[in-house]
Amino acid sequence: MSDTSRITHWIGGKLWDGTAQRQGDVFDPATGRVTSRVDLAAPAQVDEAVAAATAAVAEWRHSSLTKRTQVLFAFREIVNARKDELAAAITAEHGKVLSDAVGEVTRGLEVVEFACGIPHLLKGGFSEGVSTGVDVYSIRQPLGVVGIISPFNFPVMVPMWFFPVAIAAGNAVVLKPSEKDPSASMLIASMWADAALPDGVFNVVHGDKPAVDRLLEHPDVKAISFVGSTPIARYVYETGTRHGKRVQALGGAKNHMVVLPDADLDLAADAAVNAGFGSAGERCMAISALVVVEPVADELVAKIAERVGTLRTGDGRRGADMGPLVTRAHRDKVASYLDAGTEAGAELVVDGRGVQADGDDDGFWLGPSLFDRVTPEMSVYTDEIFGPVLSVVRVPTYDAALQLVNDNPYGNGTAIFTNDGGAARRYQNEVEVGMVGVNVPIPVPMAYYSFGGWKSSLFGDTHAHGAEGVHFFTRGKVVTSRWLDPSRATAGGINLGFPTQS
Ligand code: NAD
Repeated sequence: MSDTSRITHWIGGKLWDGTAQRQGDVFDPATGRVTSRVDLAAPAQVDEAVAAATAAVAEWRHSSLTKRTQVLFAFREIVNARKDELAAAITAEHGKVLSDAVGEVTRGLEVVEFACGIPHLLKGGFSEGVSTGVDVYSIRQPLGVVGIISPFNFPVMVPMWFFPVAIAAGNAVVLKPSEKDPSASMLIASMWADAALPDGVFNVVHGDKPAVDRLLEHPDVKAISFVGSTPIARYVYETGTRHGKRVQALGGAKNHMVVLPDADLDLAADAAVNAGFGSAGERCMAISALVVVEPVADELVAKIAERVGTLRTGDGRRGADMGPLVTRAHRDKVASYLDAGTEAGAELVVDGRGVQADGDDDGFWLGPSLFDRVTPEMSVYTDEIFGPVLSVVRVPTYDAALQLVNDNPYGNGTAIFTNDGGAARRYQNEVEVGMVGVNVPIPVPMAYYSFGGWKSSLFGDTHAHGAEGVHFFTRGKVVTSRWLDPSRATAGGINLGFPTQS
């Protein structure tokens, strides 16, 4: 294999020139072929990246807000101009269709645009004259070096939930992207360089557990933003906080879409198909459980089945609706749930196995699949399948629907479909989930709000981007200052009492 197919780390503004002890295969999921090999970092390479970031942040944190904003604006223009290149890299390693990949980049760009407003976002408070000649003001300062660890399913958007805000706020970043689709992060690194971000402020270290573990324990890494599955999110949160770091760890999901009997069933069917099968169900905000309040389930399932029949599965570069799954192992695991659900007594209305995909025979294909009459103890309901499998759970009442959602250990996203404003308002109030859609199936917040789930979908207190993101990447300081008025200067006098106002 030639050197051009090797993907290596980006440290201190250049490609790492060492020799990796371990490498991983990177596949094109639509062909099943290995397209490159990615270096997997040993702890020493993480140390190199953290050292580069530490050196860079010493100056970057003192660069003016004007300077930082100029770099952010330049980066925004470059990403926007090279959107299609990024999307092509996503599709080539993740498999999602090109239009979906462009959408991912666009949503990531929104966070870059939000971060362009950093001068406003970092404004503190000022209280004049809290005591005679004394003023108090608050400022927010960067943390230093921060680590970002991201999942395979959004190789551009998820890192972009964090690094634009982190960098704008004056931090330096070490990104550890998913080893399954590492190329997009290399394009991003070159775009930062073109935007004149100083070397070392943005670094990429590829790898798996050893790289993650070193980031979690490195004393110079002050904070970790993680996104991935719940068991790893919990581990990252516990390990990172034990090492004294600020950690936000976003985990897995099981998102319910509740359909009340008065809903527009055509709108609900369209939404269920889009949210269930977009990106082959490999989205943390995908709808995987459709909770239908009777008596409309028969009608709704028929409408969904009809729409699923029209979906074209195939190579994301050929205009298909749905691409392959990310790896062969993941495809096989998702497909195994079709057996498990059937054995448990669910009704397999549409079986995606054996789909005629418009693509290479060796691609990691699985067509969209629909289960009806799923019950809460079945593994197709309890597990986050993370694939194109939609399960319909029939319930008798709104209260039963609410209880099902609130009893679920995950709490990332949910949606309610109804024409009854009062019912929708009650749901948004009572449901224990972080992001709620009303007749909107995938309620991903805009960049100026914050993204995050509840319960086992997020460990830590702070959600991504928006005001919470700015808060996460900065720490507060309050200054109490006294300047004597030269015209009335007198000595302060001795007083050992606790300071009070006068
Ligand atoms: P994953 O948990 O397998 O991997 C996430 C990251 O952790 C990767 O960078 C990976 O290299 C690293 N990692 C994997 N195993 C590790 C280990 N044992 N120790 C340390 N690090 C490890 O997740 P994934 O399969 O890449 O992504 C899919 C998951 O991410 C799904 O569960 C999905 O719901 C979740 N996700 C959540 C959100 C959210 O906002 N809550 C967003 C996107 C994806």
